[in-house]
Amino acid sequence: MSIKKIDGNQFLALEEDEVTKLDEEAKQIPFKTAIVWKNVLMFIGWHIGVSLLMYYSNFGVAAGAHRLWCHRSYKATLPLRIFLMIGNCIAVQNDIIEWVRDHRCHHKWTDTNADPHSTKRGFFFAHMGWLLVKKHPQIKTQGAKLDL
Ligand SMILES: [Zn+2]
Repeated sequence: MSIKKIDGNQFLALEEDEVTKLDEEAKQIPFKTAIVWKNVLMFIGWHIGVSLLMYYSNFGVAAGAHRLWCHRSYKATLPLRIFLMIGNCIAVQNDIIEWVRDHRCHHKWTDTNADPHSTKRGFFFAHMGWLLVKKHPQIKTQGAKLDL
């Protein structure tokens, strides 16, 4: 195994005259920018995939955790429930049972300490701060009274 000695100057920026020299040399080299289509398609694919995943996870929360399991707004077949459950998991908004408990607490005890995202604790807390802190004990005690 050989150890390559590192030139300490390689981490320093070029002097201005060296930059000028490199620029002049570059003008002598015939070069035309060529698009790497494989990379372009890969980036487009990633963005489309992430966008679809975002819509899928939003759907899993809105149609699954919220409407189906929390409010029981409709009945769903097993394949649809599995589809919604996976979407909900991708959203990383706690498991379905905790999501349902928190949301039912929110509706039943709105703007009390048993409401996980009470607006009385401020705009940021109600929007997303509640996800960053431990829950008030009343959420667990009151939530335990709910039939989940
Ligand atoms: Zn609701």
